[in-house]
Amino acid sequence: QAKEAGRNNIRVFKSEMNAQVTERLNLQTRLRRAVDQGDFELVYQPQIDLLTGSVVGLEALLRWRLETGEWVPPDAFIPIAEETGLIVPIGEWVLINACQQNYHWQRAGFPAVPVGVNLSARQFSDPELLDRVRRVLSQTGLDGSMLEVELTESAFMHNVEEGINTLNALKELGARLAVDDFGTGYSNLSYLKRFPVDLLKIDQSFVRDITTDPGDAAITQAVISLGHSLNLKVIAEGVETLEQHEFLRKHACDQLQGYYFSPPLLARDVPAVIRQQGWA
Ligand code: C2E
Ligand code: MG
Ligand code: MG
Ligand code: MG
Repeated sequence: QAKEAGRNNIRVFKSEMNAQVTERLNLQTRLRRAVDQGDFELVYQPQIDLLTGSVVGLEALLRWRLETGEWVPPDAFIPIAEETGLIVPIGEWVLINACQQNYHWQRAGFPAVPVGVNLSARQFSDPELLDRVRRVLSQTGLDGSMLEVELTESAFMHNVEEGINTLNALKELGARLAVDDFGTGYSNLSYLKRFPVDLLKIDQSFVRDITTDPGDAAITQAVISLGHSLNLKVIAEGVETLEQHEFLRKHACDQLQGYYFSPPLLARDVPAVIRQQGWA
């Protein structure tokens, strides 16, 4: 009887596995089609200077638009895009569109604020990345200093020497470099002095309970002083409340990003928010 039950379990397990495989294949096919049809959109989340309250950056965040009008968030498809290599054409689309849009805003007379583009590990280690960035900057006309590249710690670590070279080359193009989700990844911090990083982004998992959890508060303060002692700017992600904002100001965090100030916005809604200076 036990044997019988075991066999049934295996059968159930197999059919679940098949369902998962089918689901993945399905997602992969649809994602491929989305790439061909350009069914993506970028939304932009303002980054605020804590002292002046002005918008000092915009992070471009990717959305996949379905025929149904539904929007799929990146966490639901970036991992598959990474595995299948589709991240390369998708990432190129992101880079072109973010740079084009930023150039367009500047031409229209809005204050120049850099655009942040997220690069996943596979994009960062792609040997063609630098040529691609160079080409996109020259084709869109955007100055390199208006581009900020966001990388997680794990993206740096695949190939350290190669990574340092790539980052130095990006810096030569004028780009700024931000470490995204800082504190959630690699524990060996020595890379911070070897890599030409400009900005640390404190992960939102630390910011969330900053005012109630002494551990999260301590980590956040430590990241801010670490960043400052290395001459880096520090930005807090996922700031949702006035209390979090106040904590961060009290501890001299440089910038913040989060729903408290603004959710990610459609491109057409960005100019009005950029114009509204002196918000804090
Ligand atoms: P991330 O770069 O760490 O982006 C921050 C995420 O936090 C975004 O989620 C943003 O919408 C969300 N967020 C912003 N403010 C708040 C807040 O106050 N509270 C909360 N709970 N969340 C907030 P999103 O847009 O779903 O993006 C998720 C991740 O997907 C990003 O994390 C980034 O790693 C990745 N991603 C987004 N766009 C791209 C892209 O164009 N290329 C690549 N390779 N990855 C991307
Ligand atoms: Mg990011
Ligand atoms: Mg982040
Ligand atoms: Mg993230």
